[in-house]
Amino acid sequence: NPFAQAGFILSCARLDQLPADALPEIAFAGRSNAGKSSALNLICGQKQLARVSKTPGRTQLINLFGVPGGRFADLPGYGYAEVPEQVRRDWGKLIGRYLEDRQNLVGVVLIMDIRHPLGDHDRQMLAWADHRGLRVHVLLTKADKLGFGAAKGTLLKVQKELGGSATVQLFSSENRAGLPEAQKLLREWLGI
Ligand code: GDP
Repeated sequence: NPFAQAGFILSCARLDQLPADALPEIAFAGRSNAGKSSALNLICGQKQLARVSKTPGRTQLINLFGVPGGRFADLPGYGYAEVPEQVRRDWGKLIGRYLEDRQNLVGVVLIMDIRHPLGDHDRQMLAWADHRGLRVHVLLTKADKLGFGAAKGTLLKVQKELGGSATVQLFSSENRAGLPEAQKLLREWLGI
């Protein structure tokens, strides 16, 4: 697994703090508590790379990790109900600018809890990505929480709704379902 070499680079609250080079970046986005940190940690085979949050929605920073051939950008989780409106607006601005302006960005991995797919913020992310013609891959994570039939049913429903605008797969950080598929796609996006 090439992503086992992933290492933390920096956290930033503004786009001008990001590296000024041409390395490709893949963004990881999702609602707070969807399972984004767990998915990143599993993909990179590291227990503590992205902190698995005890306080959902706390991080307001973009965390960059170096991987072979590029970087992963862990975007702040959105949609946590109990944060002040101003903080929520700031997240939206930071994420929106990153997705609209960051030239290094080659694709977005959108993490959704399979029990709560396609929330308003997820749709906003899809709209931003679509606007720029960015690739989007959806991880329907926590698939272990549903029986196989129900998980498959949700997969088909989400695939149908997204049409050609994104690829979608089942995933579980608990039992590693879908891990090789996700890693393969990330390697393809980075050309490694
Ligand atoms: P984040 O806020 O999106 O980074 O979410 P976390 O990765 O911190 O996960 C939120 C909670 O969901 C934690 O208690 C995790 O242990 C749990 N979790 C994450 N992924 C999975 C999964 O695939 N299956 C199950 N059963 N629980 C998960």
